[in-house]
Amino acid sequence: MRGPILACLSPARVPPARVRRLRARLAELYGVPRMPPHGHPIAELVCTVLSQSTNDRNRDVAYLRLRERLPTWEAVRDAPVEEVEEAIRPGGISKVKSVRIQQILEAISERGDLSLDWLPDVGVDAARAYLCSLPGVGRKTAACVLLFSFGMHDIPVDTHVSRVGGRLGLFREGAGFDELHDAMLELTPLGAELELHVNLLRHGRRTCHARRPACESCAMRRMCPGRIA
Ligand code: SF4
Repeated sequence: MRGPILACLSPARVPPARVRRLRARLAELYGVPRMPPHGHPIAELVCTVLSQSTNDRNRDVAYLRLRERLPTWEAVRDAPVEEVEEAIRPGGISKVKSVRIQQILEAISERGDLSLDWLPDVGVDAARAYLCSLPGVGRKTAACVLLFSFGMHDIPVDTHVSRVGGRLGLFREGAGFDELHDAMLELTPLGAELELHVNLLRHGRRTCHARRPACESCAMRRMCPGRIA
């Protein structure tokens, strides 16, 4: 069995009509997710740090323990690092994550308030640049904060989105992380950010698996240059 062929089209050459067809097919399969922006950017940022190298359940347990023990972000920032580490232990690599969370909160505080509520006021490019200047924060984390907290025009490209998008021919083969995010932004219509992110992720989890994509039964196979014959 040969592996899937990766991207054959550069981002600039993905025709909008093709994106519309892919989007429509995914929506037939998985629906159109409705998740209004929750308006809590620091919570999103901390959750994204906690989600590294663990599953959703352990991330949530770690997050809830942290909020129970240290109910404000100021308290998390100012607590002894061992206290943060102990609170988030169920999320794994808590030594690294506790330091990173406190570094981020310290960096945000340098502007004055410990708040990111101002991000929508400066526009998506400046907001993204600011988030990416925080310790350890990259494009994916920044996109999670902007999209899930405020509904801004950004789209996280995680392992599922990059794999499925690559097989569907949306990305240049070998594209790096920044290029993947730029390409995804370029091809995603305004207002379709959440839908495309969630539905590509669902397809990656349910059908287009990393090692053994279920191409034979995949509803996208006729549209997929990366399918296994
Ligand atoms: S046909 Fe479906 S499962 Fe196979 S590579 Fe394409 S999207 Fe993935």
